[in-house]
Amino acid sequence: MGNKWELLNTEETLIKVCPCGKGGYYKVYKEYTDDYNRSHSKDEYHVQCNECYGKYRYYKQHWIPTEHYEVVKKREKIISDLENELYRELFNSHFDNILVNFKSKKALYEFCQINRIFNMPGTLNTFYKNGIADYFSVRYGIPRIADLIMLIERTSIELSNEEVKKLESIKKEKQEVSNYLTQNSVL
Ligand SMILES: [Zn+2]
Repeated sequence: MGNKWELLNTEETLIKVCPCGKGGYYKVYKEYTDDYNRSHSKDEYHVQCNECYGKYRYYKQHWIPTEHYEVVKKREKIISDLENELYRELFNSHFDNILVNFKSKKALYEFCQINRIFNMPGTLNTFYKNGIADYFSVRYGIPRIADLIMLIERTSIELSNEEVKKLESIKKEKQEVSNYLTQNSVL
């Protein structure tokens, strides 16, 4: 009963040698097939080394002891929550103004396409049809705050001191986490 996927093919690629040098961080490509001859594949990433597994994590091109990795992940989660909160604030305060500041909705769409910001649909028609705010609001997941800042910078809108302060503090926090990662990486 039921469809069963069987592993057809596996391909391992070494991404980075581990700290002890006996193994490493690998990408494992797996291809599956089923009774109806359909197939799908996926990539898995993991540490293959008895000595380093559990002891180190490979993250953002650094080997970092697991306890420090956990600190980094915790701080990154806090930053991302702050960013999401600030995104909502900025969106609520400025989005109507952004719309007014662009010559037309088409100009807004084109600006986003050219700068590869937000997740614009393939055609202008779809953009109109789906209700423009959808593409900038949280409906399709929370967009990047950097994208919104780009839109704001393109207009004559000025951020309040409070908003600028929050942005700067997030930026500073990111830099600190990045330094922490570099300082505690072993390789
Ligand atoms: Zn190792």
